[in-house]
Amino acid sequence: MIQRNPGFANLTAGYLFPEVSRRKNEYSKNHPDAKIISLGVGNTTEPLTPHIAKAMSDYALSLGTVQGYSGYGDDFGSSDLRKKIAEEFYPNENIEADEVFISDGAKCDIARVQTLFGRDVNLAVQDPSYPVYVDGSVIVGAAGANNGSGYDGIVYMPCTAENNFFPDLSQIKKNSLIYFCSPNNPTGKVSSKEELTRLVEFALKNECIIIFDAAYSEFVSDSALPKSIFQIEGAKKCAIEVQSLSKPAGFTGVRLGWSVVPKDLKFADGTSVNKDWGRLMTTLFNGASNIAQQGALAALDETGRREMRSVIEYYLENARIIEKTVRKWKNAEVFFTGNSPYLWIRFAGQKSWDIFDKILDKCRVVTTPGLGFGPAGESFIRISAFGHRADVEEACRRMENFSM
Ligand SMILES: *Cc1c(COP(=O)(O)O)cnc(C)c1O
Repeated sequence: MIQRNPGFANLTAGYLFPEVSRRKNEYSKNHPDAKIISLGVGNTTEPLTPHIAKAMSDYALSLGTVQGYSGYGDDFGSSDLRKKIAEEFYPNENIEADEVFISDGAKCDIARVQTLFGRDVNLAVQDPSYPVYVDGSVIVGAAGANNGSGYDGIVYMPCTAENNFFPDLSQIKKNSLIYFCSPNNPTGKVSSKEELTRLVEFALKNECIIIFDAAYSEFVSDSALPKSIFQIEGAKKCAIEVQSLSKPAGFTGVRLGWSVVPKDLKFADGTSVNKDWGRLMTTLFNGASNIAQQGALAALDETGRREMRSVIEYYLENARIIEKTVRKWKNAEVFFTGNSPYLWIRFAGQKSWDIFDKILDKCRVVTTPGLGFGPAGESFIRISAFGHRADVEEACRRMENFSM
């Protein structure tokens, strides 16, 4: 028979969220009457706004007419949408429409980035980090076996309370692909302009490329904090940004994202990364759903932006409600910046799966164990603010007197 892709054999622990579900289901089986509230997986809960839903519904109906029908769209997405994204998300950064590539989501683009750079690239990730950076790299063979403290070929950069969740960059090897997420999932940290300037300067000096995941940029309300890596001087020569409407506009199921690949970004041999990205997208991807693209255009017009703002505010208010409760926990340190939908909480000396199990058992609330995001996530849990208000309030009542 055909040999198994060795990358799969190298993957050790199961993907984090299936294990969270397994424990939740196991608990439900043993406690059939328990009404469990999930503040675990970062999945949106509030409906699409009427304006966006109507734009998609009207467009879907028009696809059923001769005049309104269209098949494959333009390579790299609708030119109106590429232009609109460049204007709305990068108003002062001079990003051109042909540097914006529309896709089916940020995670999917990260997987394609891993194909773009292949298996011979050096890697650095924030620790903890969103799992696909690491697991996807193992699958394509850019990272090797797990040696007990992480996968070979990946430099893990601890982001802890002690370094204010910004890593020591000096460990990164020359010519590395650096995955960097701000606002960060799971820590909630938003890197400052000064910190990102250090990151960009490091990348330029050491011929690295930053894969900047800005999936939560719309949750940044402090205008002093950067929402895009391209707000940093020099970033167009060393960064790709992946973005998505999943979290700000509830497009987790609709599926619409994009990546920005600047024309100034070059490989070692001087060839254009933007060009190869285009080649890869036309080869491996046939374009985002035209219905989703109509939804995105609606999300980015004036009404859409206003409605999107109110949904983001709703989630941020959830986060502040949860914050009030968890700040009362004894022996817990709460890290919450107000600029992300996640609370990152440490019980020093405890194991994150034990904290997870105890909150599930005592409060019937599902959280996410920090260890699942990387070794430096041990002793932490992440609580997500995605939820209906009534569920969040009920979860807070149950968690009021929690202690480890
Ligand atoms: C949710 C999330 C994504 C996923 O984006 P999609 O566009 O839904 O694929 C990407 N990055 C981070 C850090 C996320 O939390």
